Amino acid sequence: MSDLRDLYQQVILDHYRAPRNFGPLEPVSSCAEGYNPLCGDKVKVYLRTDGERIEGLTFEGVGCAISTASASLMTEAVRGLERFEAEALLASFLALMTGDGEGANGVPLGKLEVLSGVKDYPVRIKCATLAWHALRAALQGGDAEAVSTE
Ligand code: ZN
Repeated sequence: MSDLRDLYQQVILDHYRAPRNFGPLEPVSSCAEGYNPLCGDKVKVYLRTDGERIEGLTFEGVGCAISTASASLMTEAVRGLERFEAEALLASFLALMTGDGEGANGVPLGKLEVLSGVKDYPVRIKCATLAWHALRAALQGGDAEAVSTE
């Protein structure tokens, strides 16, 4: 297991140091911001849809390694999905993080599994889920005020 843990940590550090899909998106369909006061993580998610398809997804913000890596991995996983697929993935990821077996819907998480170790550190769960809450808000049409994990 420790080899796997090492591999997971390497992927997280890689996405932290070189975040994918980082920066604003133009044109944009909706965007949403998230803030995790516990850690100070801030993330803004930019979403572009073409009908039901998620054509573009980027983020920007400042945060710890976990929040940045999670946002980066999320943009890679969700780009190109249909809206319902993205919502299913979102539910599955949040279920993994909160350990809620009931919420798991069998959607394979693929590379997102690297974040599974985070659930052993309750304080860090909010770091890992921040960008996903912002994505949910963006999928619902964006928000006037920032999503807070509190
Ligand atoms: Zn954090």
